[in-house]
Amino acid sequence: DRHLVVVGASLAGLRAVEGARKAGFAGRVTLVGGEPHLPYDRPPLSKAFLDAPEPQVPTYRGEDVLRGELAVGLELGVPAAGLDLAERAVLVGDREIGYDALVLATGAQARTLPVGAGLSGVHTVRTLDDARAVRAALDAGARTVVVGAGFIGSEIASGARKRGLPVTLVEAAPTPLVRAVGKRMGAACADLHRLNGTDLRCGVGVVDIEGRAGRAERVVLSDGSTVDADLVVVGVGADPATGWLAGSGLTVDNGIVCDATLATGAPGVYAAGDVARWHNALFDRPMRLEHWTSAADQGALAARNALDPGNAEPYETVPYFWSDWYGSRIQFVGVPQADEVVVVDGDVTAGRRWVALYREADRLVGALTLNGQRVVMKYRGLIARRASWAQAMEFAAARRSAAA
Ligand code: FAD
Repeated sequence: DRHLVVVGASLAGLRAVEGARKAGFAGRVTLVGGEPHLPYDRPPLSKAFLDAPEPQVPTYRGEDVLRGELAVGLELGVPAAGLDLAERAVLVGDREIGYDALVLATGAQARTLPVGAGLSGVHTVRTLDDARAVRAALDAGARTVVVGAGFIGSEIASGARKRGLPVTLVEAAPTPLVRAVGKRMGAACADLHRLNGTDLRCGVGVVDIEGRAGRAERVVLSDGSTVDADLVVVGVGADPATGWLAGSGLTVDNGIVCDATLATGAPGVYAAGDVARWHNALFDRPMRLEHWTSAADQGALAARNALDPGNAEPYETVPYFWSDWYGSRIQFVGVPQADEVVVVDGDVTAGRRWVALYREADRLVGALTLNGQRVVMKYRGLIARRASWAQAMEFAAARRSAAA
């Protein structure tokens, strides 16, 4: 009886378990998770979970389905502390769990600031417990400071504004989201904050978070100004959760380094999701994504490949993510490194709808849309088919004339 062990009980881990069963694997499956919770969906934590009148815990599958239908042994609440490749075993608490095939899906953990640690009212948003604490503070009408105008920070700012709370959004870079969508469109996204009453301050850092009686009270910025706050949400990015693999012999370099099939190089050991850095053949470069869709897809494929390495398939994808701000949906497909960005539809200054295309050499490599749900996957398809820039421009023109 072969044993599949999956470490990390979130999206990629759950999809690994489901992928193995779907592929007909009838052996033993164990899912190891550091959090006490059943696998749950993270995107709602900075969206609906904060807004809804009654917050719903976004659990993917009930325990009955996991233990019954999927026949998974659940080891929740204690993180894996080490990996012994020679013995083919994962260390959890004081136990060693042997594996024949192993999927590493430990995701990422939120970065913190060197200041404000230990003060109540200072939070990151990565876990259900984080989101519960932030929601409780918003329910109490917190004056909110969000540090970092990335996607998660921007969603939190949007959620607090929806409740009519005063929100200051502090960003160290002169323009937000440059690495994610480029400078021009980063500025267009920044305008959405200003149009919706969020006080966005770029080019300033947080120097200190002052507290009283153990509670956050005021944020001190690098330009000398201060902002009163009951809630400080820190959204300054995440790091792959690889600390527990130190000394294991696996190659870790901004994520677990994998080949095109998500193989780590150690027999039977594959990685998936936010923790994996793999070779994406479609763009011929290594990538580590922190996106829902690729984590789900990689989880399923990593398990299939781990169980049948002789027939391992590569994972190729056009990266995709979405983010919801102020009732609008931002979507991005492809890669943002580009020679040129052209807005082919809509008006970026009005902040209601736009389509921006990204060109590298003579190829379409990316598309960013605001409220472009009906078209964004068409551009994803064009990028996957390696469409030329001329083809993309032709397609955009045809869409415009069809709409006119
Ligand atoms: P994770 O979800 O990070 O799960 C890893 C799990 O492994 C965690 O439960 C962790 O506790 C556990 N773990 C860590 N170390 C160990 C260990 N040593 N032993 C055992 N268990 C361990 N993506 C989008 O595309 N669109 C969005 O709108 C969007 N919104 C998001 C909003 C928020 C607030 C967050 C946090 C993320 C969002 N994402 C979004 C990203 C998306 O949720 C992630 O890409 C996805 O969760 C990655 O899944 P994963 O399973 O690889 O990792």
